[in-house]
Amino acid sequence: MDLNLLRSTLEELGQPRFRFDQVWKWTAEGAQGYHEMSNLPASLRAQLEERVPFSTLTEVTRAEASDGTVKLLLNTKDGRPIETVLMRYKDGRRSICVSSQSGCPLTCTFCATGAMKFGRNLTAWEILDQALHLRRIDELDHCVFMGMGEPMMNLDNVLEVCRRLPDVGITHRRTGISTVGWVPGIDKLTESDVPVRLAWSLHSAEDALRSDIMPVNDRYSLQDVKAACDRFYEKRRKMIFVEYIMLGGVNDSVAQAKQLADLLEPWKYKINLIPYNPTDSVYDGSERGAMEAFRQTLEDEGFNATIRLIRGRDIDAACGQLAAKAAA
Ligand code: SAH
Repeated sequence: MDLNLLRSTLEELGQPRFRFDQVWKWTAEGAQGYHEMSNLPASLRAQLEERVPFSTLTEVTRAEASDGTVKLLLNTKDGRPIETVLMRYKDGRRSICVSSQSGCPLTCTFCATGAMKFGRNLTAWEILDQALHLRRIDELDHCVFMGMGEPMMNLDNVLEVCRRLPDVGITHRRTGISTVGWVPGIDKLTESDVPVRLAWSLHSAEDALRSDIMPVNDRYSLQDVKAACDRFYEKRRKMIFVEYIMLGGVNDSVAQAKQLADLLEPWKYKINLIPYNPTDSVYDGSERGAMEAFRQTLEDEGFNATIRLIRGRDIDAACGQLAAKAAA
């Protein structure tokens, strides 16, 4: 829902200010439409129905995996595809993964979104509506900006959404922005008033290899990004999550685990090893044994290192996969 449009429409209709908060509360708490908002006059509900679309997005497909993961393919008004995912865990956690751009201008070689044409930045309302569509399916408590796109290139809109997420049930502590290492965005987040978590998609502790995997490394090198992450840590005193995608025979040797350990400090960085979700790229995922040896090496060096649970593989839940298929 475009909350600016809601605000101006309520003003034009001469409604008292509290109407905005009423509508937002219902929406943030998972109402399916204006018709459920029983404390609004029926005539107002009808006018809003006409003038303020309940969502800026339309649902194109909904895929539900056997593990409870739900993935939505949504379209913007101008027909741009966006993916968003709800992951439900046995311990009760309800975590969402939202997109910040349609497509992505960065061309990480392992990523299905990187292979798509870049569309545009999403508006704050298009980002928020992803969370709201999922909130109509279940209660939510965690959010990561790990869907399509680079959130640090659209940070003002992402932060606007972060400010609204607590009303949807997701606190700042349980919100994370994931970045390839877009330094100006990291610095802006450090200086912002929104105390969310930072995740860095690192993938290789060696500049030459990292540039091969992620061309953006030519622009912001490992040391540049590391320095920006350290500034974030100095200011926020919150551990930074490192994501490290495990590509078989490429970045998954024990020697490379040691390089990673040399780059980072175990009290500042928590490492999440990500099993590769195969796409049409040249890579294969690492063997289970290689992942475990990599993890053990990091642990021996004093790091908290985990291997991410695989979710939703039967529904093409890897970044960009569903949108890429829909476009084909
Ligand atoms: N641009 C941001 C956020 C989007 S990608 C970033 O790069 O952090 C979110 C995460 O999904 C990244 O860590 C990325 O490396 C990972 N990812 C992309 N494609 C993947 C795949 N096929 N399998 C597993 N993880 C993938």
